[in-house]
Amino acid sequence: MIHLTATRPDFLDLFPKGATLTRLAEGFTWAEGPVYHPQRDAVIFSDVRQNRTWRWSRADGLQEEINPSHHQNGHTLDAGGRLVACSHGQRALVRQEENGAWTILAETFEGRRLSSPNDVTLHPDGSLWFTDPTYGLDQPEEGYGGEREQPGNHVYRLAPDGTLTAPIRDRLMPNGLAFAAPGVLLVADTHDDEGHIYRYRVSVDGTVTPEGLWATIRPGVPDGFGVDDSGRVWTSAGDGVHVLSQGGEELGRVLVPETVSNLCFGGPDGTELFMTASSSLYHIPTRARGLRL
Ligand code: MG
Repeated sequence: MIHLTATRPDFLDLFPKGATLTRLAEGFTWAEGPVYHPQRDAVIFSDVRQNRTWRWSRADGLQEEINPSHHQNGHTLDAGGRLVACSHGQRALVRQEENGAWTILAETFEGRRLSSPNDVTLHPDGSLWFTDPTYGLDQPEEGYGGEREQPGNHVYRLAPDGTLTAPIRDRLMPNGLAFAAPGVLLVADTHDDEGHIYRYRVSVDGTVTPEGLWATIRPGVPDGFGVDDSGRVWTSAGDGVHVLSQGGEELGRVLVPETVSNLCFGGPDGTELFMTASSSLYHIPTRARGLRL
């Protein structure tokens, strides 16, 4: 099977000659939320619906990480390299400490509980930005149920001093998010499976100005995405991964035989692309490198 389709011819230069898609592991129900952990040289990811997390490394293959995971979804590393997770079950943003214990970083805003944090990303100022749609409340297999308490589904900013604000309140189902630059945040809205990614200007004080629709992904939705060090956006889609220029134009696609939910760059030099896709974890080597702001 041909796994790369170029919309623009130079798309193929983003991959080593003969690069192939590999299925690293399978047997999941809804794989999501991958992050590469450099100290462990491993990818940690969620099976939201099986209520556990997994890790995969070249040395040890697939290993169970946490069971039960309280339906963890998206992950990132904080400024200190600690694992941060979105917990549907705890309705919270949580962090794993050196001794393995989990600390709740945010669970209420203005006196009301969060819904089900979905995905999280780190800003270079040390703040953690996360989305809070209601999937973990609405979908019985993705959380412990409950009612939404917030008036809307916001995007939150957790400042390094612990202050929680909600700079983005104009989205319906905010989902994946990533910084394309310190002042540019991209946020997917998967409401009604519309597949939209919106762009926001972010000021140094953490306030935000909407800049409108940035891209529409078809088929499927941009559930989660990442940015490479040339500013290209690599986003999940129904047929694999779509790679977009800084301006939002499609450059090409990595075709994957299952719906991709999310992805991360990893490996020792940051050039390997790991994709969570329904029942499997996939990998393809690239010549791009994950952006480190
Ligand atoms: Mg998501």
